[in-house]
Amino acid sequence: MSFQSSNTRTLKIAIDGPAGAGKSTVAREIARRLNLKYLDTGAMYRAITLKLYRARISLDDLEAIAELLENTALDVTADQRVLLDGEDVTAEIRKPYVNNLVSPVSTIPLVRRKLVQMQQAIAARSRGIVMDGRDIGTRVLPDADLKVYLDATLAERARRRFKEQLERNIHLTFEEVEAELKERDRIDSERADSPLTVAADACVIDTTDLTFEEVVAKIMSLISGRVKQR
Ligand code: C5P
Repeated sequence: MSFQSSNTRTLKIAIDGPAGAGKSTVAREIARRLNLKYLDTGAMYRAITLKLYRARISLDDLEAIAELLENTALDVTADQRVLLDGEDVTAEIRKPYVNNLVSPVSTIPLVRRKLVQMQQAIAARSRGIVMDGRDIGTRVLPDADLKVYLDATLAERARRRFKEQLERNIHLTFEEVEAELKERDRIDSERADSPLTVAADACVIDTTDLTFEEVVAKIMSLISGRVKQR
């Protein structure tokens, strides 16, 4: 499939869905193929979670959280390294203790407001962008050219995440990984402020029985349809 680059380089693409649905690998590949910027918004929530954890700030202490957010430099580089106050925390933010704390932190409206602002500023600065997260189609980029909601059964998502964790040398049991995903999905879907939900105009893709290439091909074909309509 080939595109006129002038038609695709200003595209804004939102990819949402539960943990382990394959959002980031798929979003990164779509961005690579279309030469668009890619932003993993989950990494930003993870970095703030790490900083709150290290500072031992209680999640009820909104004053301290506000001050911490004020005094935090967060940067996601073009090669997807996450810099927290200048420190490369790319590997640290994928560890189990961050997995277990990130959803509760992400329910805090103060945190969401700050990160949504940063994400929208990054999108405004880039000509085109692929962003993945939980509220991209509903909150961050409500006027995205294409909104995709990637889903898969809990068992399949846990299987993928389990394999990924082993490759990162993180040894959890399958049951532990499955329980963590389930709990994160519950908190992410039930929170009051921009919960994980399917945007009214999103295309839902169930990836349970699809290969990575099949998912990417489906999204590329959706993009092709949108570009023709432009
Ligand atoms: O995408 P990832 O699984 O790394 O995201 C980690 C967590 O960050 C999610 O479980 C969710 O609590 C939070 N998140 C969010 N909104 C986003 C992206 C991530 O609340 N846009």
